[in-house]
Amino acid sequence: MRYETFCGGIFETNCYLLEAPEGWILFDAPDGACDWVGSRGVDLKLLLLTHGHFDHIPDVAKIKRRFGCPIGCHPQTAPMISDPEFFRSFGFELEIEPVQPEFFIEETPAERFLGLEMQVLEVPGHCPGSLSFFSRKDQLLIGGDVLFAGGVGRWDLPGGDADLLFDGIRKKLFPLGDNVTVLPGHGPPTKIGTERSSAARRTYLRADSISARLSSSSPPISLTIAANDVIAAGTCFRKCLWPFTSPRKP
Ligand SMILES: [Zn+2]
Ligand SMILES: [Zn+2]
Repeated sequence: MRYETFCGGIFETNCYLLEAPEGWILFDAPDGACDWVGSRGVDLKLLLLTHGHFDHIPDVAKIKRRFGCPIGCHPQTAPMISDPEFFRSFGFELEIEPVQPEFFIEETPAERFLGLEMQVLEVPGHCPGSLSFFSRKDQLLIGGDVLFAGGVGRWDLPGGDADLLFDGIRKKLFPLGDNVTVLPGHGPPTKIGTERSSAARRTYLRADSISARLSSSSPPISLTIAANDVIAAGTCFRKCLWPFTSPRKP
């Protein structure tokens, strides 16, 4: 499988260009993605979105105009790209050109995108409707902001939920296999096995419920470990979006 990576925007957001049997697919559209795809001399046939956070979507409308390609995303992503008021209602003054998706994607064991068979996993918790795209043949996961090299996506943004995020990582992503390469929304690629073994040392992924763990009056030592883990992970996922506020659920 041939793929290329571009990192754009102030949040250093990755997008991935994959060569499917029937044409090129771009996953996510950070700032600068449209010009980058153009500079590759690629005739883009399809744009798929992992989720609708505004660092992943600024170039969606531009790409649709320039390449005339359809846009596929989760139904919960649609208002984030089509309703200019969506992020403003959370207090973020953003100017993003609204655009309508052509089709919706939901969790499915197998779907063909331009002849490329992918399993689609819905892993919310970082963002509602967040999708991870898995090519079994290539052992490649376009993960979005869910699992990073040395950390996980933040869960303190609107619609975030720590339990959902960790549940999804444990129950959906880890079982894909240790050899799977993860192409994350931020930072370098990693392997599921690498993250699984380092997660085993991290309290926040072992705990059944991080909210219970963080709010419990259990011995200070376990709270200290959890807090350190969150801070350690924060160093790597703080670029997901917006300034880090608090790992605690309200
Ligand atoms: Zn995100
Ligand atoms: Zn992001």
